[in-house]
Amino acid sequence: MAPAAGVDVVVVGAGAVGLAAASALARSGRSVLVMERHGGVAREVTSRNSQVIHAGIYSPPGSLKSTLCTRGRELLYPWLEGRGVAHRKVGKLIVAVDESERVRIAGLLDRGLANGVPGLVLLGAREVRAREPRVVGSGALYSPESGIVDGLGFALSLLADAETHGATLLLHHDVVSLEPCAWGWRLGARGVGGMGGEDTQFVDCEVVVNAAGLGADGLAERAGMDLDAQGYRLHPCKGSYFALAGAAGLNLRHLVYPAPPSVSGPGGGGLGIHATLDLAGGIRFGPDAEYGVDGDLAVDPGKAISFARAVGRYLPGIRPAWLLPDFAGLRPKLARPGEGFRDFVVKEESEFGFPGLINCIGIESPGLTAALAIGERVVGQMVGQVAS
Ligand SMILES: Cc1cc2nc3c(=O)[nH]c(=O)nc-3n(C[C@H](O)[C@H](O)[C@H](O)COP(=O)(O)OP(=O)(O)OC[C@H]3O[C@@H](n4cnc5c(N)ncnc54)[C@H](O)[C@@H]3O)c2cc1C
Repeated sequence: MAPAAGVDVVVVGAGAVGLAAASALARSGRSVLVMERHGGVAREVTSRNSQVIHAGIYSPPGSLKSTLCTRGRELLYPWLEGRGVAHRKVGKLIVAVDESERVRIAGLLDRGLANGVPGLVLLGAREVRAREPRVVGSGALYSPESGIVDGLGFALSLLADAETHGATLLLHHDVVSLEPCAWGWRLGARGVGGMGGEDTQFVDCEVVVNAAGLGADGLAERAGMDLDAQGYRLHPCKGSYFALAGAAGLNLRHLVYPAPPSVSGPGGGGLGIHATLDLAGGIRFGPDAEYGVDGDLAVDPGKAISFARAVGRYLPGIRPAWLLPDFAGLRPKLARPGEGFRDFVVKEESEFGFPGLINCIGIESPGLTAALAIGERVVGQMVGQVAS
């Protein structure tokens, strides 16, 4: 990278969100440079999650999480189909095991309908058993639009599209500074892993898209933003997964989720330990929710007992010995432990005195599903079409 070379937009971060933004921006005719500190794309949150295409049921109507998930899902299936990215619309059951959970899934149905999710239907115990003979519940909310996707394949398809439209990806570069300059912003980046030399290198741009995932709050702070005043400080929350050993002999056709702890959105916790299917036919359970882990991504084998207990409520007979520690991911959460719903931030920051800085902060689930819609919104923020 030549010192202070110029482009229209620098996107920081080559996860699903940054690559979707790069693709949408490049398609809109801007010159785009994507800067990523790792030696490849989708090495952080995008590759450590449930890989579920969410229908858009859970988040409060009108929130960005809800509108971008619904729009993102509508864009995603044709995108994956058209580019040959592996995915399957397997459908999902959100299972109630007692009366209080039946009330909650009925509340979720109302919320899903308010969010415009098609095809939702409440099932009785017999219909649940007909769909999934091993699942026990007094009822379930069935969502036919939910599915699974190869997250890395999706990210690579976004990169290919962005590059086809002229964007450039610069790997092994850690963005360490952001300062206003005559043209907009001057970014300083250091080479990682012996790449790019010892010195900080600079690039100028009109607009910076901060799509740095778990590093997005730190990047906003480097630009001069007061994280606590804006409410932009992230509180990473670990989610662990266990794979089900083949010896368990369990087959599932759908994603199977428990009723969430409340209808008012997942807040500081998650959606409950659910059964996800992977595209190779495996079954995985997770994620739980654990704050304060300081980047530790090891899965504690001792959790197999509590996982088996949680899953056993709707899938009786699951034994801890069948659960194999798989992987963990970190959610870039704006919500502190115990705090209620916090929305995505996808916003141009003129209001706070940072024109040309577009922050994507707190992009936890359903960020993979929402990525294409986030890309659209980023373009809209550039031309002032989207109300904040
Ligand atoms: C446990 C878990 C389960 C989830 N399940 C689902 C699900 O089933 N469905 C769904 O839709 N969503 C799910 N999500 C959410 C989804 O994974 C994320 O919303 C999405 O992947 C976020 O993508 P991203 O591009 O913002 O972040 P990332 O993929 O983390 O990308 C950010 C990139 O920025 C780079 N970066 C950071 N700082 C710098 C810097 N200073 N310089 C250069 N590069 C930098 C990082 O290296 C990284 O590559 C889940 C998340 C978790 C953690």
